[in-house]
Amino acid sequence: MSEKVARSEELFRHAVELMPGGVNSPVRAFRAVGLTPRFIARGEGAYLYDVDGNRYLDYVLSWGPLIAGHAHPHVVRAVREVLERGTSFGAPTEEEVLLAEEIVRRVPSVEMVRMVNSGTEATMSAVRLARAATGRRRIVKFVGCYHGHADPFLVQAGSGVATLSLPDSPGVPGETAGLTLTAPFNDLAAVEELFRRFGEEIAAVIVEPVAGNMGVVPPVPGFLEGLRRLTREAGALLIFDEVMTGFRVHAASAQGLYGVEPDLTTMGKVIGGGLPVGAYGGRRELLELVAPAGPVYQAGTLSGNPLAMAAGRATLELLDAEAYAYLDRLSARLAEAYREVFARHGVPICVQRVGSMLTPFLAECPVRNFEDARRQDLALFRHLFREMLAEGIYLPASAFEAHFLSLAHTEDDVERTREALERALPRALA
Ligand code: PLP
Repeated sequence: MSEKVARSEELFRHAVELMPGGVNSPVRAFRAVGLTPRFIARGEGAYLYDVDGNRYLDYVLSWGPLIAGHAHPHVVRAVREVLERGTSFGAPTEEEVLLAEEIVRRVPSVEMVRMVNSGTEATMSAVRLARAATGRRRIVKFVGCYHGHADPFLVQAGSGVATLSLPDSPGVPGETAGLTLTAPFNDLAAVEELFRRFGEEIAAVIVEPVAGNMGVVPPVPGFLEGLRRLTREAGALLIFDEVMTGFRVHAASAQGLYGVEPDLTTMGKVIGGGLPVGAYGGRRELLELVAPAGPVYQAGTLSGNPLAMAAGRATLELLDAEAYAYLDRLSARLAEAYREVFARHGVPICVQRVGSMLTPFLAECPVRNFEDARRQDLALFRHLFREMLAEGIYLPASAFEAHFLSLAHTEDDVERTREALERALPRALA
């Protein structure tokens, strides 16, 4: 397959005059792979169609939300039905109650929930709540974990042992970043050391229970349990950032899969079914500190808007045990396809998967943290990405991201992907 890209190129030339880098979120610009981003005209099921008429099998799914696939009829119907009654009222609606009820029913640690408009808002608000609840200022995050773009989370990855961090972006005051302590993912000893030094000052540990933003890195046995123990002993809160993993890796999210209960949970992506959403939740006595029940201020003009609530609820309705089993089976096949093709060509690969999110790291196994993930062959990634795109397979344009599968993906789609890899890998290696 050879793609036409004239219209995407024309639009991108115009876009860069109007928006920073031509995009509204950096990774979309395809800089890591050195290509013009494809401008998407529509999505249907597992497929994307761009403005030049190319069709792509989509493993990005808007970076995770579309677990039912693009424009799933059940989700579209739910949104349309609400849309016709008006889009936002700045007043309570039944849709908010219904989605909150679904979340609380499925995730035992979440007794109450507050809806916001993005994952960033959710994590930012959860940290404010944790600081208020504990009267402490410092937080701990893990190197290579992404929790949105709020100031406290934009800190430089420290190398090796845990370090005090510097801002990762101009515009983040050193005073703010300095309150964020970092440790390598899966390194409980480093977290213990932080608690020894700063225990009395730590409000919360925030973690992606399955890291997805350095590529998919599952927690090693005992890691999440250890975080639970350390935070409890020190009087700090444990925040699971389940913006990516929430309702994707398990019916009760990653905390259900691993059997560890955090104090606070942040969510987004799947619970909005492709519309802008985020949420934070947890035990009743914590959530009741949030305004207007309590003194911790947090608000939003469009928070809990009925379109996002309806899309989220319709998506959750599709996610029964059978749906998760299907996603698991299909994703295992995709993982196997990567391993098989790479083994045949004698190229190292480490495919790590939890449910329907996976990353084929172009490195030797295992990948346990960001430093391991950075050992990938990034030149090969770039070539492979281009060749797969030319084959009509739309992969995440970064070696540090997850592939996502949806209920709309089929065994035939995975087989097509395997065949495309068979053709693309030798060209990428050439
Ligand atoms: N937390 C995690 C784990 C995420 O993966 C993301 C986004 O990818 C965020 C937070 C931020 O969410 P949003 O992009 O909706 O602000």
